[in-house]
Amino acid sequence: MMYITKRMIEIRNLLQRVGQSNTVTLPSIVVIGSQSSGKSSVLESIVGHEFLPKGSNMITRRPIELTLVNDPEARTDYGEFPDLGLNRVTDFSLIQKTLTELNQSVPESLCVTDDPIRLTIHSPRIPDLSLIDLPGYIQVAAENQPRELKRKISELCDKYIRGPNIILAISAADTDLANSTALQASRRVDPRGERTIGVITKMDLVDPDKGVSVLSDRQYPLRLGYVGVISKLPTQTGLFRRETGDLLAGITRNEKAFFSNHPSQFGPEAKVNTGTITLRKKLMQVLEHTMSSRLHETTESIQRELEETTYQFKVQYNEQPMSAEAYLAASLDDFKHQFHAFTSSFGRPQLQELLKDALDQKVLDQLAARYWNRPVEDLSVALPEPDNIADLPNADPKSPYWHRQLDTASTGLTRLGVGRIAATVAATAVQGNIDKLLDKSSFAKHPSARKVISEAASTVLADRSYATSDGIEISLKPYKFDPDIQPHEWAQGKEHVVGVLQGELDQCQAAMKSLENSVGGRKKLKEVMTFVDKARRGDIIVEGDHPSGAGGFSAALLARGREAVFLRDRADIINLRITASKSRKCKSLENKYYCPEIFLDAVATKLSQNAVLFLNVEMLNDFYSRFPREVEAKLHEHMVSGGLERFAREDPKVRRHLDLIHRKELLELVLTKIEDLHRLGGGSGAGKLGS
Ligand code: GDP
Repeated sequence: MMYITKRMIEIRNLLQRVGQSNTVTLPSIVVIGSQSSGKSSVLESIVGHEFLPKGSNMITRRPIELTLVNDPEARTDYGEFPDLGLNRVTDFSLIQKTLTELNQSVPESLCVTDDPIRLTIHSPRIPDLSLIDLPGYIQVAAENQPRELKRKISELCDKYIRGPNIILAISAADTDLANSTALQASRRVDPRGERTIGVITKMDLVDPDKGVSVLSDRQYPLRLGYVGVISKLPTQTGLFRRETGDLLAGITRNEKAFFSNHPSQFGPEAKVNTGTITLRKKLMQVLEHTMSSRLHETTESIQRELEETTYQFKVQYNEQPMSAEAYLAASLDDFKHQFHAFTSSFGRPQLQELLKDALDQKVLDQLAARYWNRPVEDLSVALPEPDNIADLPNADPKSPYWHRQLDTASTGLTRLGVGRIAATVAATAVQGNIDKLLDKSSFAKHPSARKVISEAASTVLADRSYATSDGIEISLKPYKFDPDIQPHEWAQGKEHVVGVLQGELDQCQAAMKSLENSVGGRKKLKEVMTFVDKARRGDIIVEGDHPSGAGGFSAALLARGREAVFLRDRADIINLRITASKSRKCKSLENKYYCPEIFLDAVATKLSQNAVLFLNVEMLNDFYSRFPREVEAKLHEHMVSGGLERFAREDPKVRRHLDLIHRKELLELVLTKIEDLHRLGGGSGAGKLGS
């Protein structure tokens, strides 16, 4: 009994999970009727609870897809809104409130929408039924209702009353059946009255003789017949309505009392159907019968759907399996592979080069501060001549002045905090490379997982940073006072520093070029520079001496001019020092006071080489062994509680692949369930079901 309906409802729920409910339609009972015909009261008495939106201004704006589940295990009746994630709502006034809110969320301008509200009710006292409550037909649109409302409601109902749905056409006994909008609508789509059940409400409001004549109507003959009901409790038994599940009991008692009071009209002889219990039974039988007669067709459409899905799986994915776990594992393997390739391409020599580059800059800073300085900031102060740089070619190796200059510059380098610089340079480079690897990996499409991996790198690197930098400082201690440069180191420095100086020169020239552009050309800049030079020498500026006249330059232009003069002087100095560094005089270590650039370069190389020994072992190798494990652990943490599925579905290609597999699996499951139904003899009872 009711086996097929139950299973079919389960199947429909499964299909809804993969968005397949549109391709495979299962029959439902569609409830239509004019406003105030008693439609809500009928539905509520079938369910046994008051739960539908009420109120004189209440217009139903969305269909309610109501699934009743006979659940012998349920201790109390409860409702669920699967689309809202609202489960086990035992308070039916809350269900009513939720339905009212969902209904009111439809903007008035839309009138009605075909987007259904899905509600499932579980109870041991209800039959398995699938019902759809539609907006009530309105006769004359009231003034405050949009004119289209009437038409739109009618269109919406037309959409639902198509076959294979069963129509429950509600009409009140106290109105003329010829005027029943519900019966008129049903007649349009079901002219032979094969799938319409007529419900006549408010039987208590008409004379019993009139009641019987309505129920045995011959004007609108329906094969499934009419049922007369009284869906309103007499006022004195109003208490029933508040007691869970007792609504039906009260209704039934009241109906019995009324109909048995008029035996000649409603007794067994009269051959008319009355009472909500009778109606419920009829609904169960008709739905079961319709489901069963649709079984074959439904099976075929699921089979077709499955064939199509299987075909898609073959042509699109070559039947390749896919799961969120497998996708993560493959992404991680690929990333680890790339990481491994990186570890063999990034080691001591690369670290050495990076650190030396950083220290080259510090060497230039020392040189600028100790040897190349020509203050040009203040135009009013003339530069004392001769300056450091002019003296340098004659630097007397015995002069304590030049000793001090070189010592200060050298200790400036050795006490710079090379440990910290080295650790930072290494961490920045490794982090940058990991981020680049991530950008090229499939994690690029997964921002949150990408962040987890990138942060894992930062954590591991930061972990070793202090210890490494301290260790390096300790290892460099011996060079702090005496760098102890050897002749071969000097030779290397001589070769290297020219490139560094050349690089600095190029930068000066590039900066000069951009200054030229910013003031509107070389000529203009030259004019300002001439002015600045004259001011610096303390020359008197004669009015008219300059094209713009005395003081004709703006403050901003003068600032640029000063900058240009600085750059020009710096370039002159560097040019001089390139020539000097290349000269024969700089060939030997003895002339170190004359060639501070080479000396400082050699010191920087020595420092970086020693630092890198430590850096390589303490930081890089440690990182290489710990990082992959850290990534796995952190990703694992990130993927718990649904994270894995979310992660995989972030990639649209993977999502489509997973969806297709999911759909295929579900359709296969549905098909086995349907085949079970066939085996159990379903689908055979498609005989006649008259009243
Ligand atoms: P709907 O607009 O079609 O949903 O109609 P309702 O179910 O809200 O009913 C409209 C009015 O008719 C309400 O006041 C109900 O109490 C009343 N009503 C419904 N069914 C019956 C019935 O069988 N007998 C009587 N006397 N009143 C009823």
